[in-house]
Amino acid sequence: MIFDTHIHLNSEVYKDNLNELLLKAKDKGVNLFNCVGYDLESSIEAVNIANNFPNVYATIGLIPTEHKKWNDNTINELKELYFKNKKIIAIGEIGLDYYREKDPIIKEKQKEIFIKQIELANELNLPISIHARDSLNDVLEILKTVKCKNTGVLHCFSGSKEQAREFIKLGYKIAFGGVLTFKNSVKTKEVLLDIDLENIVFETDAPYLAPTPYRGKINLPEYIFNVVQEASLLKKVDFKELSKITYENSLKIFHVKSYED
Ligand SMILES: [Zn+2]
Repeated sequence: MIFDTHIHLNSEVYKDNLNELLLKAKDKGVNLFNCVGYDLESSIEAVNIANNFPNVYATIGLIPTEHKKWNDNTINELKELYFKNKKIIAIGEIGLDYYREKDPIIKEKQKEIFIKQIELANELNLPISIHARDSLNDVLEILKTVKCKNTGVLHCFSGSKEQAREFIKLGYKIAFGGVLTFKNSVKTKEVLLDIDLENIVFETDAPYLAPTPYRGKINLPEYIFNVVQEASLLKKVDFKELSKITYENSLKIFHVKSYED
């Protein structure tokens, strides 16, 4: 069994054939999904999908690149969404993104929004799904000072093994996706080899970051199989055992029960 801990089933590209795509994924052993929002609209859509599929959960929050959408009411809107629905398992994807952002004022604003959403996670007793791009040191600093009591997952982790160890020390899991299968992703492979199995979870981040041999195409829910397979080869751990351990890790970090039908 495989738990996709970060997927955007709320993307436009899946609108017409979501049911079929999830069945195809099921054939590959993928039986649980965490559908992640990145602003209020996509968070509401994630919740709608979760309410329609028994094996889909939802994560709600505002991604740092959408900082312009943040206003005084955002926290209340997220809170209201949470209290009206039963399948929200985390706050995310939240964090810091400095990739195209050099303005120190915007960086400060991102930090403020990140901290407010960590505090929201604590208030609702939820873990967080972290988006960090070119910002891992600042993310780490914040997580050390504003502790998230349920910790969470470093989605699409792009740091070094030393950085991964720091996050693990704080109780976070490291998520591996399509990037792990890319030929040139030396650092990501190094991280995978360095850390213990109990700290690993998997994700697609679909429709983005399709693994080899689908790189550059629209990523699909079933392709997580290729990521787990690559990890199994690199880590020299039997596919089934790796699936089982990482599935358990995912259930634990998001406080959900296994799904069987
Ligand atoms: Zn994402």
